[in-house]
Amino acid sequence: MKVSQLFTKTTKNPPAHETARNAQLLIQAGFIHKEMAGVYAFLPLGLKVIEKIKTIVREEMNAVGGQELIMTNLQPREKWEVTTRWNDDVVDVWFKTKLKDETEIGLAWSHEEPIIEMMKPFISSYKDLPVNVYQFQTKLRNELRSKSGIMRGREFLMKDMYTAAIDAEQHDKLYNEIMDAYTRVFARLGLGDDTYVTFASGGSFTKFSHEFQTVCETGEDTIYLHKKKNIAINEEVLDDESLQKLGISRDELEEVKSSEVGNIFNFGTEKSEQMDFTFTNENGEKQFIHLGSYGIGISRVMGVIAEKFADEKGLIWPANIAPATVYLARLSEDSTVVKTTDKLYDDMRKRGIDVLYDDRDVRAGQKFADADLMGIPYRVVVSEKTCQSGQHELKGRTESESQMLDNDGILEYLAPIGS
Ligand code: ATP
Ligand code: MG
Repeated sequence: MKVSQLFTKTTKNPPAHETARNAQLLIQAGFIHKEMAGVYAFLPLGLKVIEKIKTIVREEMNAVGGQELIMTNLQPREKWEVTTRWNDDVVDVWFKTKLKDETEIGLAWSHEEPIIEMMKPFISSYKDLPVNVYQFQTKLRNELRSKSGIMRGREFLMKDMYTAAIDAEQHDKLYNEIMDAYTRVFARLGLGDDTYVTFASGGSFTKFSHEFQTVCETGEDTIYLHKKKNIAINEEVLDDESLQKLGISRDELEEVKSSEVGNIFNFGTEKSEQMDFTFTNENGEKQFIHLGSYGIGISRVMGVIAEKFADEKGLIWPANIAPATVYLARLSEDSTVVKTTDKLYDDMRKRGIDVLYDDRDVRAGQKFADADLMGIPYRVVVSEKTCQSGQHELKGRTESESQMLDNDGILEYLAPIGS
């Protein structure tokens, strides 16, 4: 990718009328476009980050046997009436619309009921279970507040996985495997040290559900950490009963702001009873299926990473989700410099290095500022001086010292990074 061909441009100042730091930076760097409050488009550089996050999530979901599919955004009312969740008093984020013949339909705020209905025709015997499916889908929610940029969208991208199992034992095995997969996902995203499996409300047969909460100053949630025991509790379930159950006391806990980047639910058989979702066991008896649901907020994760890792110069992406691994800045229009940099660009691409080549005829300061604002992990500078010495400058986004390397040295250094 060449910067001269990129249709987006960075701006000198953050956008007015945008208060969330993540959206300010992402708009300024040309990663997202604000369509209206809580509704953001992903531009080429932003989409690259989204796709890299999805790749990590997809690899880990496939590793635990997940099968990917895509459900629909238009949903029939009947599927939600069975569980009372069509009712706006029960679910307060619905967007609803009508077909030409006045039939009411819903826009997907979640896919739980439809995905369970979808599974039904394929599952009749214990031999058909367990099933583990997932998707990456746009969710549409009429959220009351939308002041957190892409951390709370009215339209946002979620990965949602659903499991169906014959009994609690089979369910628990899947649940624990997926919990481990989530832990790997957040570690790979660079959030491992700051992401806690958190006891929260919402379990059907258990007192708690599990949320994955990332410590983040601008997060909308408050959690309480017991760092020694690695226990985290959402404030919504912080009461004497919970503390006793977990064997900890209130004064050992530290209060922090956090953002819910994922959650996992055990529905037990509650939902399958409501929706009459059964299978026949080995003795020919009908039984209710144990269901689980597992979300990750893909676009929220991008927002959290943008917020957490940024510095005064701009974004800072972990190498494996950066829109490019290296920003190749050419500081001269001199023909030797152009030729040398073009060759380095080609060599990088041949080696599979994800490179953004700044081939514009603009000031060096502008190029460096853009590389920093975009948060590209490495910067390579080619100038008349470096062409004379045959050694170009390589510097990490967060490092203050740079090093001088020849072509091969640069390729050797960068090739293993980022994938
Ligand atoms: P919250 O309490 O933040 O509203 P939720 O409990 O409604 O979240 P779920 O319906 O379980 O969330 O969705 C699964 C995941 O999707 C969440 O863990 C979160 O990461 C993400 N998510 C939920 N709502 C939004 C939103 N409005 N914008 C961006 N991501 C969201
Ligand atoms: Mg919500």
